[in-house]
Formats: sequence, structure tokens, C-alpha cells
Amino acid sequence: MSRSDWGEVDGKKVYLYTLKNKNGTQVKITNYGGIVTSWVSADKHGKKSDIVLGFADLKSYQASSPYFGATVGRYGNRIAKGKFTLDGKQYTLATNNNQNHLHGGKKGFDKVVWDAAQTDENTPSLTLNYLSKDGEEGYPGNLKVTVKFTLTNDDELQIIYDAETDKATPVNLTNHSYFNLTGDVSNTILDHTLMIYADTYTPVDSTLIPTGELKPVEGTPFDFRQPKKIGRDIGTVPGGYDHNFVLTRRGTSLQMVASLSDSVSGRKVEVYTTEPGVQFYTGNFLDGSLKTSDGKPINKNTGMCLETQHFPDSPNKPNFPTTTLKKGEKYHTETTYKVSVGR
Ligand code: BGC
Repeated sequence: MSRSDWGEVDGKKVYLYTLKNKNGTQVKITNYGGIVTSWVSADKHGKKSDIVLGFADLKSYQASSPYFGATVGRYGNRIAKGKFTLDGKQYTLATNNNQNHLHGGKKGFDKVVWDAAQTDENTPSLTLNYLSKDGEEGYPGNLKVTVKFTLTNDDELQIIYDAETDKATPVNLTNHSYFNLTGDVSNTILDHTLMIYADTYTPVDSTLIPTGELKPVEGTPFDFRQPKKIGRDIGTVPGGYDHNFVLTRRGTSLQMVASLSDSVSGRKVEVYTTEPGVQFYTGNFLDGSLKTSDGKPINKNTGMCLETQHFPDSPNKPNFPTTTLKKGEKYHTETTYKVSVGR
């Protein structure tokens, strides 16, 4: 593993870490926002290219990034009107997505500098630590967060999230990587084939807040229980996919919940998680105004996310699995993205 200087933010040093395994797969992660900036893997012809959207310099992330590759928190996805009640007290969070709170607020975990520690025994790992102070973005409690990234020799990027608080608070951590398995942002992801092990999903209102209902995917464009091209039904989903799927799972162990593939490159990504949900987002708000570092426009549907998570707006939805972390409890979730190549 190597480390290079990447700049400075809030008086703290920012580095870019390169994790490399024995297959030559290379993942770059910065301690600014815990962002996975690049993931270079071989296609079926052995040609290497980057399978996630990202930028080559820190300034581009600071200027404007739709959470490319970021570690998202304290709460991934939306909390309606930035309000919730916990232990009888009402809290008001920063609102940054019309009237709603999105991805931790104005300065979420994706925009702070984390403390980093690298280990490189059998496999390269990067551990990031961040203390989110009581009151930050309106959240209660000092929250100590650790995110550990490991690149295995099986081409898996394992992400392990741990947290502890001194006051009850909602917590929902995720990674916001945008995959494009063609390795070329000139192509959309509409020809990628996706499978999600979910019998139900959480429909949303016009501001993308779940209505609270768990709706069967059967007979809807949300049915990905059999592998299906993303582009097949996307035209019937206003705006495109931006929905939380309720994973059909046994227990809470790490389990495969989704699989994404591209027949042209032969690449496949399997997603394993301990989480109950996944946000499937097809890069609907990308509009070509952002450019890659080599000048290519990043157009609509040129990247897609599978953000493992608890459901959006859980603090206001008593029927959803709880996202409250209490003092003395340990938050622990795991997600692994495993890349392979077939023919
Ligand atoms: C959300 C989208 C949002 C995007 C931010 C996704 O997780 O569900 O609505 O626009 O993140 O880039």
C-alpha cells in the first residue's frame, strides 16, 4: 500500500492511499470523506480500467461531487424535513435537499477529514476514524466512527463500520460508489444486468421520502429477483431508479444480496451485506455538467449505486427496522463488493 499527499482541508492533511492486491487490482481511497476515488480492475481481455466514477484531485471533490465513492453519514439517505423525535425530544437537522435532510446534512461524513491508519500484513487495509461531535448537523451525541476498508486477494473490497455514542442518535452509514462496469463513462449502465434479492421495496413521495409502505416488487419495474437489464423497465419509473429495496435475507449475517454484471467487459460485482436494505440509484441527477479529470462529461445514468443501508427516514417510520444507536450499544455493519470477471 502506498500513500501520497493530496492536499489539506480544515487545517488537516489529506492523503490518497493506494491499496493493491496480488492480481494487480488497485483501489484508491482518500481520508477526505472516506472516498473511494478509483477502482481499477481487469476486464475479460485483461484490459484494466476504472469501474467507479471519481476525480483525480481533491479540489474537484470539494467543488462539487454527488457523493462519488463517499462514506456517507451520520445518516445515509433522507430524513423528512430534517426532523425526528428521540426519547421525547424533538431534533432539527440541517436540511440540504429541498426541505429534507440528505446524507448527513450540509457537511456530512463525506466532507470531513478522517484520521487514517494503514496496515499491510496479508492484505492491505485502511482504517479511518472520525469523531462526530454532539450537535454536528443537529444530531445528538458524540459519535465515534471507524470505517475499515480491506482489499482482499479475491478482489473484494470489504467495508466494516463501527460506531459508539454517548447519547442516543440515529446512525446509518453507507458507501456511495457509482459503478460503471464498462470502465468508460461514455457508456451508460442501462445495459448492465442486475439482480437484487428483494421481494418488496419502499415506495416514495415526490420528495423521495418513503411513504412507509413495503410494496411487493412482483409485477412492477422493481422486480430484480431474476437478472434483468437495468434499461428494460427504467422508462416506466419516473426519474429513474432511486429506491430502497427491502432485502430478503436469513438472519443478520453477511449475505449476498445483489449482483451486477456487464456482458461486454465480462465484469461482475456481487454485493454482500449485513444491512436490511439497499438503495438502488441510477445516477438520475448526473447531467453532464461534471466532467471526469480527462474531460469527459458525466451524463445521466453513467454510474449506479448499490448503497447498503437501513431504510430512508427510519427515525420517523416506527414500522421500519430501528436506526437508533443508544449509549453503551455497539453499531457494527459490514458490506463487501466482490469483483470478478467471466466470459
Ligand atoms: C439518493 C439520491 C441522491 C444521490 C446523491 C442517493 O443515495 O437516493 O436521491 O440524489 O444519492 O447523489
